[in-house]
Amino acid sequence: MSNAQPIKGSDIHSLDEMKVSRFFGCNTFNERTMRERLPREVFKAFRHSLKRGEPLAPETAHGVAQAMKEWALEHGATHFTHWFLPMTGATAEKHDAFIAWDEAGVVIEKFSGSQLIQGEPDASSFPSGGLRATFEARGYTVWDATSPAFLIESPLGTTLCIPTAFVGYHGEALDNKLPLLRSMEAVSVAALHALGHFESRASQVVPQCGPEQEYFLVDLELARQRPDLTFANRTLQGARPPKGQELEDHYFGSIKERVLGFMQDVELECFKLGIPAKTRHNEVAPNQFELAPIYEPANLASDHNQLLMEIMKRVGERHNLAVLLHEKPFAGVNGSGKHVNWSMATDEGHNLLDPGKTPEENLQFLYFLGATLKAIHRHGGLLRASIAFAGNDHRLGANEAPPAIMSAYLGSQLNHILEAIERGDVADASEKQLLDLRLGSLPALEKDATDRNRTSPFAFTGNKFEFRAVGSSQAIAFPLTVINATVAEALDAMNLRMDEEIASGKSTRAAAMAVIREAIIETRAIRFEGNGYSEEWMAEAERRGLPHARDTVAALRIWEEAKSKEVFSRSRILTAEECEARLHIRHEQYQKALSIEAQVLREMAETLLLPAILEDLGARAAALGSLSTLGIPVPAPLKAALETQTRLAGVAQERLVALKAAMVAAEALETHHARTEAYGGSVRHAQDLLRDVLDQLEKDCSAARWPIPVYRELLAPL
Ligand code: ADP
Ligand code: MG
Repeated sequence: MSNAQPIKGSDIHSLDEMKVSRFFGCNTFNERTMRERLPREVFKAFRHSLKRGEPLAPETAHGVAQAMKEWALEHGATHFTHWFLPMTGATAEKHDAFIAWDEAGVVIEKFSGSQLIQGEPDASSFPSGGLRATFEARGYTVWDATSPAFLIESPLGTTLCIPTAFVGYHGEALDNKLPLLRSMEAVSVAALHALGHFESRASQVVPQCGPEQEYFLVDLELARQRPDLTFANRTLQGARPPKGQELEDHYFGSIKERVLGFMQDVELECFKLGIPAKTRHNEVAPNQFELAPIYEPANLASDHNQLLMEIMKRVGERHNLAVLLHEKPFAGVNGSGKHVNWSMATDEGHNLLDPGKTPEENLQFLYFLGATLKAIHRHGGLLRASIAFAGNDHRLGANEAPPAIMSAYLGSQLNHILEAIERGDVADASEKQLLDLRLGSLPALEKDATDRNRTSPFAFTGNKFEFRAVGSSQAIAFPLTVINATVAEALDAMNLRMDEEIASGKSTRAAAMAVIREAIIETRAIRFEGNGYSEEWMAEAERRGLPHARDTVAALRIWEEAKSKEVFSRSRILTAEECEARLHIRHEQYQKALSIEAQVLREMAETLLLPAILEDLGARAAALGSLSTLGIPVPAPLKAALETQTRLAGVAQERLVALKAAMVAAEALETHHARTEAYGGSVRHAQDLLRDVLDQLEKDCSAARWPIPVYRELLAPL
């Protein structure tokens, strides 16, 4: 492979042109390319600073920039951009051409080390949650050398994208990436400390993540006829189709050709960008699908997931398909989530959540398992808050997706083991006791057993945890940051206890077992194996004192608690101000999302649906009238139906007025909290009521007059 000609992404147009292994990552300036193109010394210096997390020396940066520029120009790039993840949850770019004047006043291609390392996009219009007063609105983008630069190709030209963190003048994190990187570092430090007690030679621990992405596809022509799909990313009105997902014949069904064509093109783009797209299949709801990548270090997984969402939309357009990433595009059929699979691995490739084969590895596994349970136990509310936003409110607690109560599912075998530890059966942690636990045979046995409980928001699946409550449209960086931050805190607490136990004269093993046992006992309340959707669990969870935030409003309140803020500030993942800013933005985004929905539904009702309904009523009334004129008696049921429809239309008009009033009232409120509550309460309620009656009216309206595509058309097999 290495002596083959370098492959250009623009030369490959379909998956069958060559083996993936030959072109995987060809549009990234990855380590292999760097090794080939950088002067040896520069490459060594680069690797060295990367490994130690130190800033690059200016000469090194310059060397990398030169090689990167040459590579990008050879691939046809004309512009470069610092690519970052603002707190909106989207991605941002600001393109600059590779041009400068030389001394003679002639244009040359130029890209310097300083342009690579730092940019000043200004970008003062991004939400900063008050972190940047406009008079010092400067924000800087700083190269994240751990994530390779990449090329975005389009028929209109190629752009070099340089992944960066976005920071304020005083170093404040203005994006989703910097806190994620800081949280990964916190995990590494705490985990290495713990590993010091076991036989490990690791020098770094890296949180790993594989996010499974669910989505819907809808014919683009149809989607464009719906203002709600265009502006709110979900249908705000729509009667249930005659055939929804009752038959469950879509799940894992054979993939239709049109869809397969789309999927293959997405994969092609992914592979060129080094995104390890692995699995594709049909999901439960009609026209719902999933793509799962192979797991990677959490920051890469996060960058790649952001890119994936963009690729899907772009490729979708090419295939005349709208890609719906919203958590609940259609009422009455399943919504979409993003299962965030999470684990921790050493730089030697050892997965710390893998039970392992030796007694020593078993003990170490239990230690890291205990820490993860402690994190969920102490900060279940914050985890819930990390996935709280308008779209996810339709899933969580709405009886289909994982419930809004954070609990952990471990499977019966692992639970038996924890119970034995709880009883004190394994107190010495002798070789024999640890072997008797039979942890080594766990992954193979557990896999099927664990996968069956789909109702758990946080499930252990053999050698990783699966956080299933994350929303499909959501940036995963922040939920990952919360998992990392809370696990790092739990590890630190356990490490401290471990030191105390050893100081009191216990052997390392017995000390570890004592600390593990404490963690197991302490976290009993969040371990739950039953049906997470059931009423009994709601009651039981309340008895156990677990937080149950039913919606965003309630979840954000938990985030405001002191212990939530402290878990960020203690290892400098987010300062108090940075934390406050994010909360502020969450409120703002929630209000905006609900306000847009309400406005779009208002407009649809007023300018599209009600006029059509009235026209339909008029036509029917005219038809009945002409029958009468001809002396044909109008049958009572026909008249009654018309009367009912007319009455319902009146109700719709009344509810439309009520919705407008609720919106005006919400906007007039002074504080953020009050506005968020009003949008989540009275506005949403008014919107639901209006939808309800419009859905009823749709069912009886003449199909020819209904002005927008209905569910039956939107969900028809592609
Ligand atoms: P399951 O059947 O339990 O869902 P899969 O093997 O299908 O497991 O993996 C689902 C997702 O989990 C994939 O994206 C995969 O890369 C990811 N994954 C697997 N192992 C790990 C791990 N150790 N850490 C993080 N993610 C993982
Ligand atoms: Mg899974």
